[in-house]
Amino acid sequence: MTQLHTDSKGTAESISAAPAASAPSEDMQDTGQGEGRTRVPWYAAMLCRVGIHTGRWEYLAEGQCTQMRECRRCAATKVRTKHQREWRYARDGRCEQIRTCKRCNAVSGERTKHQWGENYTVANWREGHRCKRCGVVETWDTSYDD
Ligand SMILES: [Zn+2]
Ligand SMILES: [Zn+2]
Ligand SMILES: [Zn+2]
Repeated sequence: MTQLHTDSKGTAESISAAPAASAPSEDMQDTGQGEGRTRVPWYAAMLCRVGIHTGRWEYLAEGQCTQMRECRRCAATKVRTKHQREWRYARDGRCEQIRTCKRCNAVSGERTKHQWGENYTVANWREGHRCKRCGVVETWDTSYDD
């Protein structure tokens, strides 16, 4: 068995890469106040002066909702309470909800939230719907007597 060896090497194409255009260097303004501090633009320092600080609020401890923020510019600290509240049903088969904080479990509200099904006819001139969760039925009059 004769093997035909066909060397068909593709011709290597030379890719001419254009040199990346160098960005024009901007002349940064240097105020020359070398005091070892991070340079804060005047407008940012102004914001700090009027109480608009920049920084991330971080929780101080797990299970608590106290947050502290340290300003990136002036290092001023501030403390606040930030709850992560959500409504949830107090128990199965009931529609009372309580609003609690996911972090510290503080309760901050109560309400009733039914999960109504489709409206249906109860009787003449009367419609209703039934809660899919607790089974309570609410009906209303559909006769429009002006
Ligand atoms: Zn600040
Ligand atoms: Zn909380
Ligand atoms: Zn219900």
